[in-house]
Amino acid sequence: MTASRKLLSILIPAYNEQEVLGALRTRLESTAAELPELDFEFVFIDDGSKDGTAETVRGFCDEDPRYVLVELSRNFGKEPALAAGFDAVRGDATVVIDADLQDPPELIPEMVRLWELGYDDVYARRTSRAGESWVKRATSRLYYRMLERVARVEIQKDVGDFRLLDRRCIDALREITESQRNTKGLFSWIGYRKVEIEYERDARAAGTTKWNYPRLLNLALEGLTSFTTAPLRIASLLGTVVSAAAFVYLAVIVGRTLFSDYHLAGYPSTMAVILFLGGTQLLALGVVGEYLARVFVEVKQRPVYLVRRVTGRSIEAAAMPH
Ligand code: UDP
Ligand code: MG
Repeated sequence: MTASRKLLSILIPAYNEQEVLGALRTRLESTAAELPELDFEFVFIDDGSKDGTAETVRGFCDEDPRYVLVELSRNFGKEPALAAGFDAVRGDATVVIDADLQDPPELIPEMVRLWELGYDDVYARRTSRAGESWVKRATSRLYYRMLERVARVEIQKDVGDFRLLDRRCIDALREITESQRNTKGLFSWIGYRKVEIEYERDARAAGTTKWNYPRLLNLALEGLTSFTTAPLRIASLLGTVVSAAAFVYLAVIVGRTLFSDYHLAGYPSTMAVILFLGGTQLLALGVVGEYLARVFVEVKQRPVYLVRRVTGRSIEAAAMPH
């Protein structure tokens, strides 16, 4: 009996990546040629690109039946694009890879080898991050250290989305219908057998990064509020401590006024207390607001992404949002 051939999906979210697609195709196809025992499908998610990304990939689809293009109705961001990809891939395993060639496709055979040994999630840890400023590296290191401390899931440091996921991981990720997603946290959350490989992260082959600080800050806050309610706890603890201290202070003042002839000129201390309490209240309110905002967005139950068009596969066969 011959074992049936396995299908490996390569999932590539792409937003304005026109310049790099030719080089990406060459490297993906030579990697695929190294693994003749597997069938491949290259699933591109065009995340509302404004350049010729969709047209270029559509061209690939015309020439080679292994290519699939899912065009989203607008730019949703990388996380929703990945969600669209998880719904679209059909492989026994899926490799998530950035379009900009920062993740070397040459690592895929090594990932496949580990997958065949029985691992479900083979993730790549980068040992260097060429072309990224030290500010970006330092802030990302600090952030993940903090998140790991307060959240209950283990967050892998220096690990991006570049990884091979077994079918069961993809199915697990599809069960998660949160609309504000932090995919990296979700990879940890689902669990399964994980193994790490190391690589040097290259600088982008072409084009520019789609991230900027406001976007990163947003991702950071999303990660924090979707994985931990610790800030709520801190807000209530802070409230308790401050009120307890204020109560003690009040008792002291009353005692002193009644039992001694000590009379306080109250302005500075009153100001200090009012400002302090006002500040803490605003902070705590803000924290509550952050979580309420998440609830607000989630209860609307909007789809995570919308598909405009699928090329390279019949529409019925392509998985649509649940
Ligand atoms: N990306 C996307 N939608 C976006 C932003 C980015 O699909 O709104 C894709 C992008 O095309 C690339 C990957 O996500 O394939 C990573 O983006 P980028 O290289 O800009 O991020 P960085 O490597 O700087 O973290
Ligand atoms: Mg990049």
